[in-house]
Amino acid sequence: MEQNQTASLADIQNFKGKYPKQLWYLFFSEMWERFAFYGMRGMLTIFMVEQLMLSERDANLKYGGIQAFIYTMTFIGGLFADKILGFRKSVFWGGLLMIIGSFTLAFSPKDLYYIGISFTIVGTGFFKPNISTMVGSLYKDGDPRRDAGFGLFYSGINVGAFLGGWLCIKTANNYSWNAAFSLAGIGMIIGLGIFIFTRKMIGPIGLSPLEDKMPKSKIRMNDIMVYAGSLLVMPLIYLLVKNSEYTDYFMYTVGPLALIYILWEMRRFNKIERDKLFAALVFIIFSIFFWAFFEQAGGSLSLFARYNLNDTVLGMHIDPNEVNNSSNSIFVIILSPLAGLLWLWMAKKKAEPNNLIKFGLAFLFVGISFYLYYYNRFFADAAGKTSLNMFTLAYLISTIGELCLSPIGLSLMTTLAPKPLHGMMMGMWFLASAYGQYAAGILGANMTTANDNASLTEKLISYTDGYKQLAIYAVIAGVVLIVISPLVRKLMHDVK
Ligand code: GLN
Repeated sequence: MEQNQTASLADIQNFKGKYPKQLWYLFFSEMWERFAFYGMRGMLTIFMVEQLMLSERDANLKYGGIQAFIYTMTFIGGLFADKILGFRKSVFWGGLLMIIGSFTLAFSPKDLYYIGISFTIVGTGFFKPNISTMVGSLYKDGDPRRDAGFGLFYSGINVGAFLGGWLCIKTANNYSWNAAFSLAGIGMIIGLGIFIFTRKMIGPIGLSPLEDKMPKSKIRMNDIMVYAGSLLVMPLIYLLVKNSEYTDYFMYTVGPLALIYILWEMRRFNKIERDKLFAALVFIIFSIFFWAFFEQAGGSLSLFARYNLNDTVLGMHIDPNEVNNSSNSIFVIILSPLAGLLWLWMAKKKAEPNNLIKFGLAFLFVGISFYLYYYNRFFADAAGKTSLNMFTLAYLISTIGELCLSPIGLSLMTTLAPKPLHGMMMGMWFLASAYGQYAAGILGANMTTANDNASLTEKLISYTDGYKQLAIYAVIAGVVLIVISPLVRKLMHDVK
């Protein structure tokens, strides 16, 4: 994949205007990858309850476990990209595995479920962090346009997430699960296709770090070992996903090991670089809590939408699960450019909040949104069905919170980490999502009623009690972050 580079790094990074044109190639590749990913994500919990006959509790736990494994693999994917493959080959390999995973599921969703999921897990690990890091590579150090670039990229993510989340579950409802998983696979083929066809335009970005350091044959050998290794871990992932009880052991070990590894890597950097890495870790650790709340979306909120919501939003009839899977993305697409403009306007007035305060606000917004999920119980009818309008409003507010944290975190990883650790720190950022997802699954499972045959009203009470608790925790986290922000600010040195 290395030949025929057309543009030099300087050509790319010295772009005129707001965005480098290469951003659009990454935008569309990632958009389709997210189509596949969110298409699948929106189906998992319901598929497990209705086709694999898991209890709601087990489905929530397993969903959390699957998401946790996916995002854990991003740390490994980022690490191998930094050390051996480079970002480009990693994205290619990840995309290929994701295609295999989707079509395995499409072929026989019930029988091959865990095999298909295992491919998807490893594939996403190689694809997701590394395409994000490549966005950061389009910018020179200190280029103030970087955040806007990540904002745009984040919109692309959500265009894909919206279309995938909406169309895949619709296909499953109206045609078949096989067709729905195939659709995810087709999305992934398009994403990888775009990446392959546009790779020559991104110059040297994402080439292997070993390029020019060793003979081609040796590089190839290293690559093959990574590819083979990732296939060899597949049976292990399969076992881990199939048996939810192993998830715990896995999660107890991977995070601490990753942290120890980063601390060990830090020794070769100077004090300022280390300070910035510590600051990055603070953002990462807080993001775990954020995702634990936010990621109720694919688990408990998906079941809440299935059973406890009416089907009317702003007078239109629509399946509540389609709203659950897609409204967040629509709101991001609309609000992300507005957020960019708002930050710019505030910066001009010298009133732009720093990134720590933005993170703190993210928690406060999520706290409000969970309070609304809770408050929705007061609009329920006698059958236990409540307002889809209120639910959608809560999504709008949690999306505002997301925009104060998620695209900013991506951008920060590429500014706070020194270049040789970019992939790994981006992987670490997503590893935090893994822990968030994992915690989200446990929180969601604890919100379910003990009895799956409980009435809809009992389910409503049980879930909304849980949402009220989450609202309180979110507000506490936000306040803590805002209070400690001056300390962390010092560690960030010249980064705002
Ligand atoms: N929604 C974003 C994405 O899919 C963020 C996911 C995350 O970091 N948990 O990229």
